Amino acid sequence: MTAVVAEHMGVKYGNTDALKDVSFRVTESAIVAVMGPNGAGKSTLLRAMLGLVRHTGILTIDGRDPVEHPGLRRTMGYMPQREHLAEHIPLRVRDIVLMSLIATKMPLSSISRSDVSAAKQALREVGLEHLWNAPFHTLSGGQRQRILLARALATGPRILLLDEPFTGMDLPSQEAFVRVLMKRREEGTTSFVVVHDMTTLAPCADYVLLLRGRMIAFGPPAEVLNEENLREVYGRSVPVLVHGGVCYALVGDRHA
Ligand code: ADP
Repeated sequence: MTAVVAEHMGVKYGNTDALKDVSFRVTESAIVAVMGPNGAGKSTLLRAMLGLVRHTGILTIDGRDPVEHPGLRRTMGYMPQREHLAEHIPLRVRDIVLMSLIATKMPLSSISRSDVSAAKQALREVGLEHLWNAPFHTLSGGQRQRILLARALATGPRILLLDEPFTGMDLPSQEAFVRVLMKRREEGTTSFVVVHDMTTLAPCADYVLLLRGRMIAFGPPAEVLNEENLREVYGRSVPVLVHGGVCYALVGDRHA
């Protein structure tokens, strides 16, 4: 089944195009790597899928427009880029994970037993259940990212939108993170993952979407990650390495 469709989709901020001419079809049970330099429109695409910014052209999640159907947001798990959770509020890990479960409820205060077990299950999935009571701000960057993933997973989303989730993570944590995405894919979840470097995601990505203010290419990694496309995206020559049938673009971390 098709999960997300874009046809000549774009986003304008005022009169300026942040993104234009994006067309793709992504099935359920897929992992999509979204790549492009800073300012390419990657976060804008995720925000459009959440229905947070208005788009032009066609963009549908399960056949419905996310702006016209804001309830679709409840079927999505979102991990924004570099979350700034107020440092002076003494949040514990459990508060962070429970946030996504209570955000969709009224009144906000009601936390049910099933919310607690869903939050614990999500933490178990990322291997950090033992940190349930730990103060969030004392944890390492990699642990925080995995906890924010648990928060996105806790509601059982059909679509995961992850904006640079690997920032501040060491390689073993990145690999553990990818294993979670692969397990969720087996259960039908489709993940869009913004990455600067394909090293961790290359062995499991089904599609790559290359952006630079517009869509440069979309398709399976072996088709899309070639020198011509990467030069168009990054404006310089990017070496491509094929190892064990898997295609790696050696972009490096260009994030400021
Ligand atoms: P990326 O995630 O690839 O770094 P973004 O989606 O954040 O790119 O930004 C794409 C373009 O849209 C950039 O030129 C950025 O400056 C602009 N932009 C992003 N958010 C806004 C906003 N809220 N208002 C105006 N322009 C924005």
